[in-house]
Amino acid sequence: METDSNIINKIRNIGIAAHIDAGKTTTTERILFYTHKIHRIGEVDEGTAVMDWMVQEQERGITITSAVTTCKWKDNIINIIDTPGHVDFTVEVERSLRVLDAVVVIFCAVGCVQPQSETVWRQADRYKIPRIAYINKVDRTGADFYKAIKRIREKLETNAVAIQLPIGIESGFKGIIDLVNLQAYYYEDELGEKITVKDVPEDMKDLVVKHRNELIENLAENDERFMELFLYNNKEINNEEIKKAVRRCALSYKMVPVLCGSSLKNKGVQMLLDAVVDYLPSPLNIPPVEGVSPEGALEKRNTDYNAPLSALAFKIASDPYVGKLIYVRVYSGVLKAGKRVLNSTRDRKEKVTRILRMHSNNREDIEELKAGELGAVVGLKFTVTGDTLSDEEKPIILEKIKFPNPVISIAIEPKTKADGDKLTESLNKILEEDPTFSVKMDAETGQTIISGMGELHLEIIVDRLFREFNVKANVGKQQVSYKESISEETSAEHKYIKQVAGRGQYGHVVIELVPSSSGYYFENKIAAGLLSKEYIAEIEQGIKETLESGSIAGYQVIDVGARLINATFNESDSVPIAYKIASAMATREALDKAHGHLKEPIMKVEISTPEDYLGDIISDVNAKRGKIISAEHSTGSIRILDAEIPLSEMFGYATGLRSLSQGRAVYNMEFYKYEQVPKQIQEKIVNKIYGRY
Ligand code: GDP
Repeated sequence: METDSNIINKIRNIGIAAHIDAGKTTTTERILFYTHKIHRIGEVDEGTAVMDWMVQEQERGITITSAVTTCKWKDNIINIIDTPGHVDFTVEVERSLRVLDAVVVIFCAVGCVQPQSETVWRQADRYKIPRIAYINKVDRTGADFYKAIKRIREKLETNAVAIQLPIGIESGFKGIIDLVNLQAYYYEDELGEKITVKDVPEDMKDLVVKHRNELIENLAENDERFMELFLYNNKEINNEEIKKAVRRCALSYKMVPVLCGSSLKNKGVQMLLDAVVDYLPSPLNIPPVEGVSPEGALEKRNTDYNAPLSALAFKIASDPYVGKLIYVRVYSGVLKAGKRVLNSTRDRKEKVTRILRMHSNNREDIEELKAGELGAVVGLKFTVTGDTLSDEEKPIILEKIKFPNPVISIAIEPKTKADGDKLTESLNKILEEDPTFSVKMDAETGQTIISGMGELHLEIIVDRLFREFNVKANVGKQQVSYKESISEETSAEHKYIKQVAGRGQYGHVVIELVPSSSGYYFENKIAAGLLSKEYIAEIEQGIKETLESGSIAGYQVIDVGARLINATFNESDSVPIAYKIASAMATREALDKAHGHLKEPIMKVEISTPEDYLGDIISDVNAKRGKIISAEHSTGSIRILDAEIPLSEMFGYATGLRSLSQGRAVYNMEFYKYEQVPKQIQEKIVNKIYGRY
């Protein structure tokens, strides 16, 4: 009988992350092929890849939705969450990183560290996720494995160390040397299934010795146990010890093992799978998951079948056959089909009707999902992304998933009343699935405003509204989502007294708003016992709702803290709703008085251009109120320009840049931060909104 921990030790929950085009889809496809989940290799270029199952994805040739796929590799279970590469969807990466234990980051051996791989890397740093780097496309002209490692070390400031070397490069790439067991693996057939293992070729011996020594020295520097062996045995250490030390260093984030391959040419993927098993953590290697009890006490759960259930819902998707699917990761205990669970975030009981194990686009009904496993649940009515499912008797609320602000909006006007109803219904469905998307009604124009992470994100939502939900509507131009904030402390008082149906209503508060660099917070500064919890909650609600729409131009107010500094209570007339109204009015008044300002999204932009056009491009960035951060040399005469530019200046940049560089320069951008809009520009924006010019 296998023990529980033996079973859990064979699970790997990994994400695959990469810059768009680095080869994530191709690599995932090959993984599914070699783990015998599919019998034919679909080519991404023909739009038949198994993971890309949404129509939009097939047409655009990119992977948008993260589909969880379970596959088996040499007795191990590997759960893969495919994460999209396009920056508009970094949130998908973010939520996957939250529920996965490790990540394989794919780099292109030619392009190497591109902005999205950098973003993913930093996200993985934040969540302390062990990873391995896979340098793909070693077969491409211009591929340079050694330079790619150097770039990873420098740009990502990480201890990336080769544990493999390519045999041959570009079109001559024919095999891989494993620096740990010192064997050479040659790929003999087109599908990469026939592999012969030989000794290291004569002409690579020096190179292999050099890199193996580097690996050993690096391990000695980073791993105490290995250091002792190293000193004692004077470099004659057995391969098994090296393998163990690489694993220890990878799990403690001290080293990133680097692999190579060409997924397209079917070389390297099986070795990548071996490395996933050898060097990435099982759910037993991760720290216990942390959360709080409903009373606020810190709670921890170990990856243990016998511990109370804790699971996190990390994605909602609607499925045409089974309805709403809630993807969950179980951290402790066992989630059982047909049983009730507690949604501890919302304090509601839910029934799990079915549990499905997802294999890309087909599924299998299973009875239970155990600690360390991922799957999809059917039947939950109230659960949304970020909620915790837990044991009814031992509730725990796990930390929520953080989502960035939507930065671009678009106005939608349904064509008929019936379309209007359909629009509301469809948007609600999309909202349930996608927490980075938001919907607001513009009170003045009656338009529905939807906001998202980028142009492509909104384009896809609009496309789904038209095609999937059959809504007929006029769609406006994409607009920047500004925010509002305040520069100085401000306060206001409001007393709300009213007679309603012969009964008095009384509420009285004094509210202070303060600029806050750490985002919104609420502080209750009134004497203890003056107002009960219920009243305080209403007051906070009144503040929050008012901050949704600022006084300058109705944008959401961010980076403010609110303090309740005084209140009075009337024995006969005080009611909670009156306090909510009073706090909303006081907040509004405080905002009106404050010297508020607009904040605009600033994008991180990376432009790659031949030297000749550098001057023109820099002047153009300056004219766009942009800041040049660096202008590094890349390969040949290519320069890589890093800049920060307001999003409002970036509409149509693809065309602009093309004409500045005769089509030779390319760029990438992603959201970086919100920053105060200069005064004269703020005036222009406000005038435009109010139609004053
Ligand atoms: P994704 O955007 O990261 O999912 O990348 P894809 O898997 O869609 O690959 C992008 C493009 O690169 C496609 O045209 C692939 O055929 C190509 N590609 C992927 N892997 C390799 C490789 O190992 N070598 C070469 N030469 N091309 C590759």
